Amino acid sequence: MGSIVQAPALTTQAMPFKVLVVGGSYGGLSAALNLQDLCSGLAPRCGPKPVEGAPVIETPQFNVDITIVDERDGFYHLIGSPLALADEDYAAKSWVRYEDVPAVSQSQNIRVLHGSVKSVDQTSKTATYLPHGLVSSPENTSTLSYDFLVAAAGLRRVWPVVPQSLRRKQFLFEAGDHIRAATTARHGVVVVGGGAVGIEMAAELKLVQPQLKVTLVHSRDKLLSSEPLPDEVKDKSLELLLEAGVGVRMSTRLDKTEEVVDEQGKKAVRVWFTDGESILADQVSLAVSRSVPSTEFLGVNETGVLDEEGYVKIQSSLAFPAETPNWSDHFAIGDLVKWSGIKRCGGAMHMGFFAGNNIHQRMIEIASGKEPAFLKLDEIPPMIGLAVGKKAVSYWPATGVSAGEDVSQAFFGDDLGFTICWNHLGLGNSQKL
Ligand SMILES: Cc1cc2nc3c(=O)[nH]c(=O)nc-3n(C[C@H](O)[C@H](O)[C@H](O)COP(=O)(O)OP(=O)(O)OC[C@H]3O[C@@H](n4cnc5c(N)ncnc54)[C@H](O)[C@@H]3O)c2cc1C
Repeated sequence: MGSIVQAPALTTQAMPFKVLVVGGSYGGLSAALNLQDLCSGLAPRCGPKPVEGAPVIETPQFNVDITIVDERDGFYHLIGSPLALADEDYAAKSWVRYEDVPAVSQSQNIRVLHGSVKSVDQTSKTATYLPHGLVSSPENTSTLSYDFLVAAAGLRRVWPVVPQSLRRKQFLFEAGDHIRAATTARHGVVVVGGGAVGIEMAAELKLVQPQLKVTLVHSRDKLLSSEPLPDEVKDKSLELLLEAGVGVRMSTRLDKTEEVVDEQGKKAVRVWFTDGESILADQVSLAVSRSVPSTEFLGVNETGVLDEEGYVKIQSSLAFPAETPNWSDHFAIGDLVKWSGIKRCGGAMHMGFFAGNNIHQRMIEIASGKEPAFLKLDEIPPMIGLAVGKKAVSYWPATGVSAGEDVSQAFFGDDLGFTICWNHLGLGNSQKL
């Protein structure tokens, strides 16, 4: 691959191309920033690094106006949630308001709207937008027109898997209350659900508050039972969890909880399991997955864009299904797409880069008639990096299973991946040079 440098604009469009990105997290930011790079004649920040000395490839530049709409008022490092909901200092670091993200706030091409996209009309290429805090009504809703749309709205996840706040200030209260309740717990915390989220929640809580009794309950005889991963990954996860000091109850379910008064006359919860046993706790956190794609704005199934579960049926170019109106100008990326592989933030950022590239290719096609050279997504095999306290377990098809503190360092650094993601997206740079 040759280097990509500033190149003369291929076209002198009178009007900039308008791009609407729904969702400003890993996927949406990646699409917006990689597209901006390409439209400025720069190498896309998440693409392959240019080889030194290789011939320069000039990419056509375009004027572009990118609007990102997000329900949150900032970039929230979602994968850090298990730690953010256990440690107040980390919570403050994990949510950065968009106005404090230099790559976004200092960009001439990108603006962020705090609110929700309510509907999309693929035929007229318009979307309706409701600003944050306003009740849904025709007077409060405005119309955004676009040339290209990127759907990057992820999954709707329940509390306490992820915080429900939409403003940073409110999030810090939400996390603080949750953390204080756990800190004062005398009988301990029960986490229900031994999927990736439940494992990370239990392990981070125990890591940050070692005095706390933390119990994880899982209905099957293996952790991560719904993931298509080798048993070795599941067994290693259990081993690391026990090593971290988390109590694990397998093959039993939460039956019911009862409010009781303990021997000191204080309120507690008696947690009953389906095997007839019970323990006393102060807090029960449900980490059973009930996440649904955040695709209401794309209508229900009759548009042909969504499958029966609400996932977007993308083509390998990440474009909407071929039979739908203006499909080649509509892209979907990240957790809300129907594609193979375990949902991962790395996957969302990678798809964002592909979408940015493919929109740029469409711009070239519109300007010059040149056939677009789309980047196409391959099938993604199951792979995972799971933080379990001070250690991590990973499974990659090429390298198999690895576990240890070195794996944690490689996958998550010192801050559960915040700096790795921040740097990969170049969020601290006003422009990538
Ligand atoms: C607790 C937890 C731990 C995880 N750990 C890991 C891990 O260790 N490694 C890993 O690779 N992955 C991990 N994941 C998965 C990872 O977080 C997701 O794959 C990733 O967040 C997907 O990114 P995305 O951009 O597609 O969507 P999201 O990150 O979900 O972002 C979607 C954005 O869209 C916005 N939005 C939604 N609807 C609308 C609308 N109608 N209008 C405007 N905005 C909207 C939301 O506010 C949100 O900001 C974890 C997930 C969870 C919940």
